[in-house]
Amino acid sequence: MRVLKFGGTSVVDAAAIARVVSIVAGREGPRTVVVSALAGVTDGLLSVADTAVHDTPAALAALAQLTERHRATVSALGSAYPRQVVDLALDGIARGAAQTVQAIAAEGNTSPALVDKLVASGELWSSRIVAAFLTDAGVAAQWIDARHVVRTDGCHRAAVPDLAATEKAVSRLVRPALALDRVVVLGGFIGSGPNGATTTLGRGGSDYSAALVGACLLADEIEIWTDVDGVLSADPRVVADARVLPALSYEDAETLATFGAKVLHPKTIEPAAARDIPVRVLNSRRPEEPGTRIDGSGAGETGCVAIASRAGMCLVELTARERPADGSFPARALQSLSDANVSVVVGEIHRDRLTVAVDHLVDLDALRSRVAAFAEVRARNGLAAVCAVGDRLAADPRLVTSAFAAIADGHIHLVARPRGASAFAVIVDAADAHGIVARLHDAFAASAVDAEEEIAS
Ligand code: ADP
Ligand code: ASP
Ligand code: MG
Repeated sequence: MRVLKFGGTSVVDAAAIARVVSIVAGREGPRTVVVSALAGVTDGLLSVADTAVHDTPAALAALAQLTERHRATVSALGSAYPRQVVDLALDGIARGAAQTVQAIAAEGNTSPALVDKLVASGELWSSRIVAAFLTDAGVAAQWIDARHVVRTDGCHRAAVPDLAATEKAVSRLVRPALALDRVVVLGGFIGSGPNGATTTLGRGGSDYSAALVGACLLADEIEIWTDVDGVLSADPRVVADARVLPALSYEDAETLATFGAKVLHPKTIEPAAARDIPVRVLNSRRPEEPGTRIDGSGAGETGCVAIASRAGMCLVELTARERPADGSFPARALQSLSDANVSVVVGEIHRDRLTVAVDHLVDLDALRSRVAAFAEVRARNGLAAVCAVGDRLAADPRLVTSAFAAIADGHIHLVARPRGASAFAVIVDAADAHGIVARLHDAFAASAVDAEEEIAS
């Protein structure tokens, strides 16, 4: 049993979808396909939602253009039957989306529930189209509404999956179709809450959908098909000579994703790791490449050091108003952050001070009033986190020293070891982040060459 997830660029147009069909057809055994919206469609729908508030005709016109893009994509289908089925489905989704646009206009604001409902159209369209292309190519495919499969807590824009309910839905809807030798096709990113309302899993959430479904099906492997050859030693848009990592541990993959490696949604790893299911990241344009295998064993001490960076960080410092004799300040401060739903990326704890890097959208006023009785809050915005990860860092601590020498001239606001000896993170000014990623990448690449020469001599 295999889950294959295709991202937006892998389904961007008819030619890309034809590649998806050949990849899926080339795999044997039970398969479940999870697809993102066509590249750019989620952004397009979010902009339709914003426009609907002040200019309904313009929003409907933009929606009509998106609908037309999907219709044009299916015009490449050869046979009449899947074409008729998919055309009807696409029109139904478009009508629902137009009603949601009217509802947003009537409300006069973009409520998270309506935005989720509208934005889900992207994955509904794409999954219908991919199922039709598979059928057209002679692959028995069954489309299933992913909102009936991925069940969540009902929280809009970033829902938390309900694994037990999802597992039940997978057994009820997905397993019977697989038993009939059908390739199941689901939209990623979308699900529904306890009352049936459409929810989404947060931007980039189709990877997470694939991992959830893969975990429920106890898949042999979860394949994440994207537009790069695997997880690379750095973002290729930042470091042109970044290398493909052949293998990576679950922990390292999760850390890289948390620190901004967009190739994987950060929550993808947890459901796979919990059931020991390997995740493979592959390039849909170059399916012959081996990609990156992510599993419990990882790359070991000879593997590469990989670097990720995440912009939009804010450093929040909570300082005790008085020094509590019992040392309870850090625990109390951390509890307040958790109660305020502030998710900490990395931080530093002292007896009477807590410094944490968090997303810049944090509601500082709410946090200040929550801790007013015992702490003062200071915050600095415009920052980025840069993180280096790899077992080599633990095996040879000199590497960390030389890495810091390479970036010593920059302004570092915080240094942390998010995962002990095999990773380090620094918080820096956002403008410096890419330069620091590049310099760290060079420093580690040079040390890898030194190590190889040492072994050879
Ligand atoms: P998809 O639409 O397939 O989900 P994404 O755009 O979400 O694709 O993720 C793939 C992109 O992630 C790549 O094109 C690349 O620019 C970016 N990326 C950032 N860091 C890394 C990394 N360490 N390895 C590979 N890709 C990365
Ligand atoms: N289409 C969604 C997004 O753009 C989900 C995904 O691509 O994974 O965020
Ligand atoms: Mg993605």
